[in-house]
Amino acid sequence: MFTRMTRVVGVAVGFAGLYTFADTKKNEVTTSPPHLLATSPKTEGAIPFRSGDRTMKHYFITGPPASGKGTQTNMLLQEYPHLTHVSSGDLFRAEIRSGSELGQQLLSYVSAGTLVPEPIAIKPVLQAVEAAPGRVILDGYPRSLEAAGLLKQNGVEPAVVFVLNVSPEVVRARVHGRLLDPLTGDTYHKLFAPPPPDIAARCEKRVDDTTKKLERRLKVWKGTRAAIQESYSAYIVEVDGSKTIAEVSAEIVSVVAALEMTETLVVFFSF
Ligand code: ADP
Repeated sequence: MFTRMTRVVGVAVGFAGLYTFADTKKNEVTTSPPHLLATSPKTEGAIPFRSGDRTMKHYFITGPPASGKGTQTNMLLQEYPHLTHVSSGDLFRAEIRSGSELGQQLLSYVSAGTLVPEPIAIKPVLQAVEAAPGRVILDGYPRSLEAAGLLKQNGVEPAVVFVLNVSPEVVRARVHGRLLDPLTGDTYHKLFAPPPPDIAARCEKRVDDTTKKLERRLKVWKGTRAAIQESYSAYIVEVDGSKTIAEVSAEIVSVVAALEMTETLVVFFSF
C-alpha cells in the first residue's frame, strides 16, 4: 500500500514538474530552475515542498525599481489569497511610522543618511514571515549577499525567485507615471494601469519617484542582481517584465500553479 502510494505521489510530482516545464516553455520564461524538474534523477530530492521535513519554502520576487513587483504580487494574491505579501519597503515605512523601538532604531540610520545594518533591517521581514499563516511572497528582499545569508540562517528560503527583467528606459517611463493610493498602498499608472475613477483624486506620486533617486536605485539594483544570482541561481525564473501586466502575471501564475499543485498532492498523499 505504502509503495503504491509512494508511486502515485512520484507520478503526481513528476507530472507537476513536467507541467511547470511545459508551461514555462510555452510562456517563454527564459530560465527554468533545475529543481522544478522533479523527474530528473539528478534533482531528485530537491523538490521545494518536501513532505518529510515540511520545510516551508516561499516565493521571492525581485527586479529593478518599478519593474512591477508590487503589481505582480497583487495579481498573484488575487489567484492565491492564502499567500501573504511581505514587502520590505512597506514594512520599513510602517515600522518607522509606528514609532516602535525597532522603528526608532531604523529611523536613526535613515535620518543620519547611513545604510541600516542588515541584521537590523532583516528584523521586520523575519517578524512578518513568522507571523504569516503560510507561504509568503517576499517582494524586493533580500538585496545583498549578507541579507540572503541571514535569511537562510533563519530558515527563510525560496521555492522560486522570480526576477522581473525590465530595461532602464521602461523603468523610467513607469516611474514617471506611477501613482500610489495612500489609503490601500495599491499602485497604479497614469497610462498603463489608471486608478478607478472613484479613487483617482486621492492617488499621488510616490515621494521617492524622483529622477535622481531612481538613477541611484537603478545602480543599487546591479549589486542586488549579482547577490541574487550568487545566492539563488538554482531557483531563479527570469520573466520578461516589459510585457503587459496580464502577460507577466500569466507567466508567474503558471509556475506558482504547478508548485501549489505539487504541494497539495504531496500533503494529501503523505497522510
Ligand atoms: P515595483 O513594485 O517593482 O517598484 P510597481 O508594481 O509599483 O513596481 O510598478 C511600477 C509602475 O509600473 C506602476 O505605476 C505600475 O502600475 C506600472 N506597471 C507595472 N507593471 C507594468 C507592466 N507590465 N506594464 C506597464 N506598466 C506596469
